[in-house]
Amino acid sequence: MCLRIETPAGVAIVCGTRRIPVCRCGRPADYQCDWKMGEGKTCDAYICANHAKEVATNKHMCPFHQHAYEHWKKRHNVVDLGKYRARLLGQASLFPSLPGC
Ligand SMILES: [Zn+2]
Ligand SMILES: [Zn+2]
Repeated sequence: MCLRIETPAGVAIVCGTRRIPVCRCGRPADYQCDWKMGEGKTCDAYICANHAKEVATNKHMCPFHQHAYEHWKKRHNVVDLGKYRARLLGQASLFPSLPGC
């Protein structure tokens, strides 16, 4: 069984006989990026503990999306809080869903 892994750098295929997924730095990956890509998909890039950033409980970002997340936070700081909360409550998770990511 092969896993198709989409990362910001491209698509990787990892097959059963291979070792566990690794971060782009070569270390074993402890996490997968939870950045939402829309339609219930997430980035899923494999990231080691050094490169993962926990932005919310059990939500980790790959280095690429850590930047995107910072931008997202800045953009949403100026958004009306009531609207923002209503939007969050309408989602299954508290994690941001980004348009055009
Ligand atoms: Zn790493
Ligand atoms: Zn990512």
